[in-house]
Amino acid sequence: METDPDQRSTLAVHGGEPRPKAGDAITNPIHNTATYTFEDTAELRDFFEGRNEREEYGRYGNPTVSVAEDKIAELDSAEAAALFSSGMAAITTTLLAMLKSGDHVVMTSDCYRRTRQFIGRSLGKFGVTATLVEPGDYEALEEAIEPGSTRLILAESPTNPYLYCADLEKLVEIRDRYRGIKIMIDSTFATPINQRPIEFGIDLVVHSATKYLGGHNDLLAGAVCGNAGIIQAISEFRGVTGGVLDAHPAYMLIRGIKTLDLRVRKQNEVTLRVARWLEEHPTVDTVYYPGLESHPSHDVARRQMSGYGGVVSFLVDGELDDVSRFIDACEIPQIGPSLGGVESLIEQPALMSYYELTTEQRRDIGIYDNLVRFAIGIEDGDDIIADLDQALEQV
Ligand code: PLP
Repeated sequence: METDPDQRSTLAVHGGEPRPKAGDAITNPIHNTATYTFEDTAELRDFFEGRNEREEYGRYGNPTVSVAEDKIAELDSAEAAALFSSGMAAITTTLLAMLKSGDHVVMTSDCYRRTRQFIGRSLGKFGVTATLVEPGDYEALEEAIEPGSTRLILAESPTNPYLYCADLEKLVEIRDRYRGIKIMIDSTFATPINQRPIEFGIDLVVHSATKYLGGHNDLLAGAVCGNAGIIQAISEFRGVTGGVLDAHPAYMLIRGIKTLDLRVRKQNEVTLRVARWLEEHPTVDTVYYPGLESHPSHDVARRQMSGYGGVVSFLVDGELDDVSRFIDACEIPQIGPSLGGVESLIEQPALMSYYELTTEQRRDIGIYDNLVRFAIGIEDGDDIIADLDQALEQV
């Protein structure tokens, strides 16, 4: 289908979908099946000898899941995509498929903490080593490369909770000076509406599809996009590790993605407005949003993103308990550890992911007690601002 390369709404609705569909229905069927049957042993032989392409067993493929995969691949300008039962299943399976003992990974220190944990602790047990570098320090990143053993550069863009953006062009430039290195970008916070790393030459893009792609806080899924050969290898490995997505959440994902462009554009618009409003508020110290000129990644974000996303973080002028009072007084956002859905969610990272640490330990890793992460849903911008305004009075 011919579509405007800068627009994604037509692809979000129609991308990856066959025509006509089963029973001439407008929607895709949910193939709730664990296995597939063969007419006779001749068909089985044809299949195993590569003369026909069809499904065999649920762990190796499902037609509903394939439609969702093709849709995500088209949205991300990738040749192919593979879906998994969660974002972490996508990340861990991809890393296990790509790396072997003796390999080295360079990653930015602000990657999702479970990704860091998997690479540092779990892959460490199997002889994979990793070097963490500060986001934005490309000299350090290049110095960390061990020619011959570094296989992967891993970064997230934008990151949680400070929304730093990795300079995709710079990463590609560095990669191209060496042999055998691939770059993987976790693009969860950006979505294919705001950023398509593959168009910059990035090798692999991962998404926690639990967030914006699903978009309704009602499913867990993960996606990895790349060229057909890599995705084929990762999908085959997924058939061994088994973290597949079931047909029903795949259907929900297809349905969620149809409104991705509408949702993300609204989230971009409202979040930029809220970020600007917060920046002017006397009870707010610092606002972190890549759409603001004051954000250290603003120039990078402007070059590689068409919108800045639905998450804004900020420091409230107060102590741990003052900020908790503000959060408790919010009436629209609910307290919860996710993002990207239609409902706004708010959290005080010091009381969530970093609760077990002391104030000093948290400060050492850059998590301040007065930090708030606000993941904006699709509610009305005026209502959100009025709600924040009344809640900030509690500080
Ligand atoms: N990547 C990022 C940036 C995330 O924020 C998350 C989850 O919070 C993940 C990956 C993991 O995704 P999931 O929760 O779907 O396993």
